[in-house]
Amino acid sequence: MTTGDWKTIFVTGGAGYIGSHCIVELLESGYNVVAIDNFTNSVIEEDGKSAALKRVEKITGKKVTFHNCDLLDKERLEEVFSKQKIDCVIHFAAIKAVGESMQIPLHYYRNNMIGAINLLEVMKAAGCFQLVFSSSCVVYGEPKSLPITEDHPTGNITNVYGRTKYFIEEMLNDITAAEKNWNIISLRYFNPVGAHPSGLIGEDPTKKYTNLMPYISQVAMGFKPELSIFGGDYPTKDGTGIRDYIHVVDLATGHVAALSALYRKHLRLRVYNLGTGKGVSVLELVRTFEKVTGASVPYVIKNRREGDISAMYADTRLAEEELGWKAKLTVEQMCRDFWRWQSTNPHGYRSSVKNGNSEK
Ligand code: UDP
Repeated sequence: MTTGDWKTIFVTGGAGYIGSHCIVELLESGYNVVAIDNFTNSVIEEDGKSAALKRVEKITGKKVTFHNCDLLDKERLEEVFSKQKIDCVIHFAAIKAVGESMQIPLHYYRNNMIGAINLLEVMKAAGCFQLVFSSSCVVYGEPKSLPITEDHPTGNITNVYGRTKYFIEEMLNDITAAEKNWNIISLRYFNPVGAHPSGLIGEDPTKKYTNLMPYISQVAMGFKPELSIFGGDYPTKDGTGIRDYIHVVDLATGHVAALSALYRKHLRLRVYNLGTGKGVSVLELVRTFEKVTGASVPYVIKNRREGDISAMYADTRLAEEELGWKAKLTVEQMCRDFWRWQSTNPHGYRSSVKNGNSEK
């Protein structure tokens, strides 16, 4: 990978789960990072700094320039953006709880859509047209074929959160068709799990979890009595749902590869899947977690969760061919690293914080 003469990367949502892991890889690849976050979904310490980013600095021995800034506050965004020359932006900031997005859709549309529009307008005004967008495999809706390739139709999405990702991708399509300056990669993540192997950063376990691995881990810690497995009658190898789990560190290196690709070539807009290409069932994940951690995860099979699909996994060839990137870490490593983070930080970043606001 090369940083070329790109020096400074602007990261929105830098204090979040994926943002913080990505910043570690950016710093270790030689970039400077300017990060913003509004702490809707991450922890701020008493000194006004981000708990996660302090740990990032500890891991890398490098400094992160950080601003407490909400993308909905366009004036403030303009102010922090114009403080230095930005070579490329990585846009992670979004609210992402699927269930909640159905209850308060307007809030999700305002936050995710207007946030993205403000960011694009501020970038354009500053003459910065390079962007990596954090998208999701949710844009594919119900898969018509597996593994899913990037040319699979998008749309037909069953939840509001997913629709915000889809609408932003559509917006990027229109913008890049109309204005040739833009150079954008949209990365469609499959199921990011795991944590940095240092155990210092990870997905904050103080949130109300609905995702599978954090839930498994909470059960293994004894914080929850059992895991509910949503559906045991899917047409899959063991009847439980299949997903493509990807280690968050692999996901982060995918962003570094995307920056390199944008630097090398003017792409207008390209989309890539970031997954491993391997489908893993809920039961397989539970068993692997138990095996590598030695903890026990009692479960009960319940009814299917509304809107869930039976199986989803990526075709990863395009990212391999064009970005020179491939996920390397195994499901065992995903479980081991997640467990190291969870067991040494049972209350996440809050252990060291008095007035954290990691809950919404
Ligand atoms: N799942 C489950 N119990 C839970 C949470 C998730 O059985 O408490 C299943 C879910 O039905 C799906 C898989 O685990 O088959 C991954 O779910 P998650 O919410 O993590 O990701 P997504 O459905 O968005 O891919």
